[in-house]
Amino acid sequence: MTAVAGIDVGGTKCLGVLFDGYEIVKSVRRPTPHAKELVTTLVEIAKELGTYSTIGVGMPGLITPEGVVRASPNLKGATDFDLRSQLETRLNHRVTVENDATSATHAEWQVGAGRGSSDLWMVTLGTGIGGGLVIGGKLQRGSHGFAGEIGHMVVHPDGLSCPCGRRGCWERYASGSGLAAIAGGERGEEVIARAASGDAQATELLDVFGKWVAIGLANLTNITDPDVIVIGGGLATSADVIMPHIRNWFGQILYSPEHRAHPELRVAQLGESAGAIGAALLSTN
Ligand SMILES: [Zn+2]
Repeated sequence: MTAVAGIDVGGTKCLGVLFDGYEIVKSVRRPTPHAKELVTTLVEIAKELGTYSTIGVGMPGLITPEGVVRASPNLKGATDFDLRSQLETRLNHRVTVENDATSATHAEWQVGAGRGSSDLWMVTLGTGIGGGLVIGGKLQRGSHGFAGEIGHMVVHPDGLSCPCGRRGCWERYASGSGLAAIAGGERGEEVIARAASGDAQATELLDVFGKWVAIGLANLTNITDPDVIVIGGGLATSADVIMPHIRNWFGQILYSPEHRAHPELRVAQLGESAGAIGAALLSTN
């Protein structure tokens, strides 16, 4: 296998990897610039990665199958932005551009925690919530490339307002910022650290949080009947503290739990590299 390259565009940093024979052989990182400088930064990363047969980019937001960024809420100025053709012109090489969560889902499914699954959800619990899905052994993109925007499922009509302009979106409750909201403004990491050291009040907050996560996971299960749900994102690094609460509530909230095989809740294995590895793997298709 020849090396393939992938670059994940994050809210604060861009991570490029050269992936060969199931391992990262080189990685390059740069701060994420303003959208006007994005193409230049990605070209620099691609050149620094060296020689690759194919290259892909994972990009947050609504990405069309043609690699046009329709909107990217955390990257100001990236609206109706033809990222793929600009990169292809500058690199003189074919480039694929996919949604970052779709890329991460593909990576965890193919070479991470989701290996062996035919029907999978990947749920990334970070500042917000990202998602991607596999149905019947096929990665799903939806009719316009926008499938898996699960963070904005409404779970609480008239609930907390969301930057998307609506109210009660799942990520207002079940992400890192959701945990902070539940905790009255205390940072999620601090709540988790207190719970890890045995603080009863923090443990109660995490239980409330775990229920919100489980509500969404149960909804996803009702829609696609997955065999595996992979939990990733920044909060998954504290899986030993948060997962028991999520598992407990999931077992109770799941529809008809005593009459079905429960989807296996697995913790993501590829960490922050999932998006870049997935972009690299998808570039070979
Ligand atoms: Zn929303």
